[in-house]
Amino acid sequence: MSSKTFYITTPIYYPSDDLHIGHAYCSVAADTMAKYKRMRGYDVFFLTGTDEHGQKIEEVARERGLEPQVFVDQMLVKIKDLWKLMHVDYDGFIRTTDPNHVKAVQHIFVKLNEKGDIYEGVYEGWYCTPCESFWTESQLLDGLCPDCQRPVEKTREKSYFFRLSKYENRLKQLFHDHSDFVEPASRAHEMINNFLEAGLEDLAVSRSNFSWGVPLPFADDSIAYVWVDALCNYITALGYPDDTELFDRYWPADVHLVGKEIMRFHSLIWPALLMALDLPLPKKIFGHGWLLFEGGKMSKSKGNVVDPAILVDRYGLDALRYFLLREFPFGSDGNYSTEALIKRSNSDLANDFGNLLSRVVAMISQSFPEGFPSEKDFDQVDIDLTNLADETAAKVEQHFDKMEFSLVLASIWHLIGQSNKYIDLTTPWILAKEEESRSRLAAVLYTLADVLRRIAVWISPFMVDTPAKVRQQLGITDAGEEINTELSSWESAAESGLYRDDFIVQKGKPIFPRIDIRAELSTIEKLDEI
Ligand SMILES: [Zn+2]
Repeated sequence: MSSKTFYITTPIYYPSDDLHIGHAYCSVAADTMAKYKRMRGYDVFFLTGTDEHGQKIEEVARERGLEPQVFVDQMLVKIKDLWKLMHVDYDGFIRTTDPNHVKAVQHIFVKLNEKGDIYEGVYEGWYCTPCESFWTESQLLDGLCPDCQRPVEKTREKSYFFRLSKYENRLKQLFHDHSDFVEPASRAHEMINNFLEAGLEDLAVSRSNFSWGVPLPFADDSIAYVWVDALCNYITALGYPDDTELFDRYWPADVHLVGKEIMRFHSLIWPALLMALDLPLPKKIFGHGWLLFEGGKMSKSKGNVVDPAILVDRYGLDALRYFLLREFPFGSDGNYSTEALIKRSNSDLANDFGNLLSRVVAMISQSFPEGFPSEKDFDQVDIDLTNLADETAAKVEQHFDKMEFSLVLASIWHLIGQSNKYIDLTTPWILAKEEESRSRLAAVLYTLADVLRRIAVWISPFMVDTPAKVRQQLGITDAGEEINTELSSWESAAESGLYRDDFIVQKGKPIFPRIDIRAELSTIEKLDEI
């Protein structure tokens, strides 16, 4: 077992409705990071799950005539199926209705109470049910929820409060001492300016006007506020407080990935709760942007085209995963459209990458069907391309370590672009005509095969099937039929010259099909009217 650990989490999703491409975006990012770290030799724990309590779940279940538990059990099946389909390969899946989680949340409330950080009062103010958020009069924007711009309800109920204000100075210190605690930096500034500087008020942490939640051990008419219940998942999933094996191994988390709308809960309330529990704080909270759809925030009501299962079915999982992490810089908002997805798939995947592989494999198969000769006549232009691949190795790691997924892919695709230019420059189809340029031709095609082998490694955290397809066409096998695992390791991609002369290329189907954009868009339009 590696001594280097890496603990990454997604938010636990609220299963009041089917998940859409916006949720898949966050999970694919977390999964890609987890896969990268595993390839780098880390002992990784990737956690996701479902946030199953709360007023909205209770209301939605009731509308459908179901008990809340029955309703969330049904939704869970669909969510787990989606992650399976998308190869979101998590190590842990937590449900907030798990008995262990419920017990642990109760333990946490008792601990906070014993510490004097909980007191009884009356909550009077505004509540946004879709967001499950409390708001004061002054926080509302034109009388609406400042997060989702929907109407809020006036509530007045008995409530227990958490002394959030007590931790204000320590939180200010945290943001001051660790400028990278919250990323991107713009989100950290928002937290400081909009909340910390304005002063933190104590937080209502219980509800008493409905019952779908974790009962408080010291007040049987009250349940835990769903956000406190949910935030605790990051430690209860590791067995806190009873079974500390995983907790000791992985806590504190290396990164909590969150949508920007829930940054406040993760970067202020969560650390304050951990401070109150005398536990170490997560190392980083990373707020990714929203995928916008026709200018508005993504939601399931936007139609079938935001259903990730349909997109996987039509365009393939690897194209979708590539598009999500290539198109939008990870911390910023981006406009999602199926048209943009198809264009990316056609240009970057089918044209640039797929054509490169097909051309190289076809030329090798024609001129060196039995493998490369040992005699190769290398030139400066070959060395330049290999040097660029070496630089790419360093760039890929630098950007990955900062979760700059789009820049990782941009560096790899820059190398792909240069490889295509290199073919135009070295004109291997002309070299192939003359017997005396055979060793020059061998050098050119070997250089390309060697670069493609390294690219297949770097894309492995992003893509599920493509790396093996590339290796298969390049004939990268052991003596038997099996794909050579040594040449698919992360370390191997840093080195040039590992492609072997005795590999026999195998022509195959294009790894990415070209999509007829007009026909496809009209089909999609009809699909959306169903
Ligand atoms: Zn709201």
